[in-house]
Amino acid sequence: ESVEQLVERLCAKIPDHPEPGVLFRDLTPLFADADGFRRTTDALAEAFRGRFDFVAGIEARGFLLAGAVAYASGTGIIPVRKAGKLPRETYREEYVLEYGSAVLEIHTDDVPRGSRVLVLDDVLATGGTLGATAQLLHRAGLHVAGFGLVMELTELRGRARLGGHRVRALYRV
Ligand code: 5GP
Repeated sequence: ESVEQLVERLCAKIPDHPEPGVLFRDLTPLFADADGFRRTTDALAEAFRGRFDFVAGIEARGFLLAGAVAYASGTGIIPVRKAGKLPRETYREEYVLEYGSAVLEIHTDDVPRGSRVLVLDDVLATGGTLGATAQLLHRAGLHVAGFGLVMELTELRGRARLGGHRVRALYRV
């Protein structure tokens, strides 16, 4: 079974969540499967091997991936958090969601400027979240080494919002 097949098999599809008309992809069955989780994190680490100095995980599901990938690749982690969670000075990016807006933050001084950062999240949808994360990293003087996703929802065309950065999704649907 390929990683792609593994992700497809262990992804639950929930119609009309969180609102009517949306087919939500839930990857908790994949994360709960020991072989599935190991192969997923190994594949993401391998896709960017030698290209990054830190891993950034986006709250909250990205944290699960970032911890494992950082450990597997011998790097540290940058948490990209929702508004108001980080206790010291932050960079802050507000971005538009389908309904309303959201804010993401990172600490200004956790890692040296010029470092290469691999950004991880579970699903790429419209690309708003990852686009805002790229802005945060730029403001902190960091280089985006790329974006690693478990799943990409291609019809939402999020990839087009991520500039020329390297994007690797284990399963594209
Ligand atoms: P965006 O539209 O900014 O690409 O996605 C917004 C956030 O919601 C991202 O963190 C993404 O992982 C999450 N997201 C959007 N659609 C889904 C989905 O169908 N399943 C899961 N698990 N996360 C989603």
